[in-house]
Amino acid sequence: MAEPYQHYIDGEWVSGDAEETFTSENPATGETLGEFERATPADADRAVDAADEAFEEWRELSRIDRAEYLWDVYHELRERTDELGEIVTKECGKEISEGKADVVEAAHMVEWAAGDARHPKGDVVPSEIPAKDAYMRRKPRGVTGCITPWNFPVAIPYWHMAIALVEGNTVVFKPAEQTPWCAQIIAEMFDDAGIPDGVFNIVQGFGDAGNAIVENDDVETVLFTGSAEVGHMIQDKLGGVPGKRVACEMGGKNAIVITEEADLDVAVHSAVMSSFKTTGQRCVSSERLIVHTDVYEEFRERFVEVAEAVAVDDPLDENTFMGPLIEAEHVEKVTKYNELAREEGVNVLVDRTELDDAEIPDGHEDGHWVGPFVYEADPDDDLRCTHEEVFGPHVALLEYDGDVERAVEIQNDTDYGLAGAIVSEDYRQINYYRDRADVGLAYGNLPCIGAEVQLPFGGVKKSGNGYPSAREAIEAVTDRVAWTLNNS
Ligand code: NAD
Repeated sequence: MAEPYQHYIDGEWVSGDAEETFTSENPATGETLGEFERATPADADRAVDAADEAFEEWRELSRIDRAEYLWDVYHELRERTDELGEIVTKECGKEISEGKADVVEAAHMVEWAAGDARHPKGDVVPSEIPAKDAYMRRKPRGVTGCITPWNFPVAIPYWHMAIALVEGNTVVFKPAEQTPWCAQIIAEMFDDAGIPDGVFNIVQGFGDAGNAIVENDDVETVLFTGSAEVGHMIQDKLGGVPGKRVACEMGGKNAIVITEEADLDVAVHSAVMSSFKTTGQRCVSSERLIVHTDVYEEFRERFVEVAEAVAVDDPLDENTFMGPLIEAEHVEKVTKYNELAREEGVNVLVDRTELDDAEIPDGHEDGHWVGPFVYEADPDDDLRCTHEEVFGPHVALLEYDGDVERAVEIQNDTDYGLAGAIVSEDYRQINYYRDRADVGLAYGNLPCIGAEVQLPFGGVKKSGNGYPSAREAIEAVTDRVAWTLNNS
């Protein structure tokens, strides 16, 4: 296709109203990857009109027929995993193993949703009246707006869209402005699969296009994954509107609890993977390590040693552990939080905010590089740096004394509630943590990262409003109906 790439609306590649375009950039090199038309709010409204028009016919298909289109997408994801993984890495900078994993996870989600189409749905419910049949059924809601972040540019869109489509909804997709190339390929896959006109639509662009989807009266459901700032704004806007539903998955200030009963090899591995992999840019990345005083010194020494040594490198190289940040604005944000931590009086142990020229891989001087920033803070201090999501390799060590109850109290001292982990060999501590940590995703003796599509993925408190993906996502995109029939 010729650049600038267009939007996909009502089964056609079309130009929008604006003359304006934007580009996708490789965060490791600064190289421009492609040029895309920037959607206006009116373009988003046009896509919603197409989706609304297509809904009546799409909902009439059986769930199994709808899933057939998804199976085509599934096979393409599987056949093109390596190629697409490389594109993910080029566009969002995550290490190549993570780029491929993003595509594999997308395939898993599509497989789950399409496979689920052949499973029994609804319930047969007993009735007090012998001649009455009672059922619980679900029906699609209509146009679904899917607004997604850049850090899982293939997996998260499919987490949203696969279930929405199989359940009989039509979709308007507004991907992150940082990863339009990945989104373009997703759109091409639906086009290749021959999905009926208007059932899937994409508008490429920024927050103004996303906002137009949110504000459009014909959008019944908004599925949003991204920052708490934007997610809460959407919730505030739609929360009180009758008939609207909004499912938000947002950020976290995730922690790992390392007790006096921890195997420190496991603890260091868990912390390093959770804090530095993908350069700390996962919603579940860990920015707080809550460590018992008995093992604190040894843990600190080992963790600091890694933080000082870990190299950034070309994310396309299979051996790279840490790639770049997504964009220059994000380097600025992470730098500001590192400075804020100093201003708030923490004890800085490692500061590699600005890397030496020699640490930056050759030919990647225009990439967006930072290294780890590690500090000690008092868990009782009410600091912004230990309570706000930074979304980078910015890590606080919080020493505690006492029992696991105290550690969990520190863990829960945040408005967020996405993910957390405990490292301990004591099953009583593990069980206490599992039952009392205020998180949607809890890991025991593992890194505080990882998702499987058959498990719910989502947070509590400020991190999510209760529709974690997979099974529960069906509830977000359908309405329940209690159906009773007199069969006498
Ligand atoms: P973001 O909130 O800046 O953007 C997300 C999407 O919202 C983008 O498509 C953006 O264009 C759109 N948007 C921006 N303003 C909007 C508005 N006013 N109305 C409608 N849409 C608007 O987030 P990001 O920087 O792309 O992603 C990083 C964030 O996402 C982090 O906070 C991370 O923790 C979170 N995240 C959460 C999960 C999860 O499952 N809980 C997964 C991945 C990322």
